Amino acid sequence: MLKIIQIPVLTDNYIYLLHDTASGITAVVDPALSQPVFDELNRQGWQLDWILNTHHHADHVGGNLELKAKTGCQVIAANADKDRIPGFDKGVDDGDVIKIGQYAAKVLASPGHTSGHIVYYFADSAALFCGDTLFAMGCGRLFEGSAEQMWRSLQKIKALPGDTRIYCAHEYTQANGRFALTVEPENLELQQRIFEVGELRARNQPTVPSTLQQELDTNPFLREDSLALQRQINREGETPVSVFTEVRRLKDHF
Ligand code: ZN
Ligand code: FE
Repeated sequence: MLKIIQIPVLTDNYIYLLHDTASGITAVVDPALSQPVFDELNRQGWQLDWILNTHHHADHVGGNLELKAKTGCQVIAANADKDRIPGFDKGVDDGDVIKIGQYAAKVLASPGHTSGHIVYYFADSAALFCGDTLFAMGCGRLFEGSAEQMWRSLQKIKALPGDTRIYCAHEYTQANGRFALTVEPENLELQQRIFEVGELRARNQPTVPSTLQQELDTNPFLREDSLALQRQINREGETPVSVFTEVRRLKDHF
């Protein structure tokens, strides 16, 4: 399997180092900063080949130029973002496949948080690097997209296998859980998960990655089909997009 190392940085960001042992190829996903990446590369004895960016926000690309300058790595990002990703080298579009050594990742366009947002899906490793599109029990804010766009993006993720590990870019889980409980207070899996998340955070442990199945069971942004949720927010029987839109609006004002 693809080796994945999670590096917590800033207040609540995660950077991910990916490594294929057979070929020695190494990539980093969304390097907010460069120094923590250099430190981990040194610790592992790895050389950086690729930067994979999900979107252009500073807390995802802040380390791009320094990493590129010192390692000669290349930056992969959405063609749509080529003018706003520092050090942009290789553009990708929805459906493209990139390879990290022997491991293939499919690129899925996921507009909503930003217009150019993409996620990277490593099917063989059951791993999704989803930046600020899907979070544990949450989803990204709509800075450049409509609720309907974000809903469509999340439908693509929903269709992946339930055992897919969700490597999102932020540790927002505990706060997300508090909101989730207000729209689905009687969801037992949600209650249980919030308890487990509390235990992990009390020990300063990450709650990421989760699995897609956990998100399907507890994440209100993937649960527009839940009648209990629809009732709780007074949207019973409305379209999935309309239910999602209301959940997003409520979270924005939570
Ligand atoms: Zn962002
Ligand atoms: Fe972010």
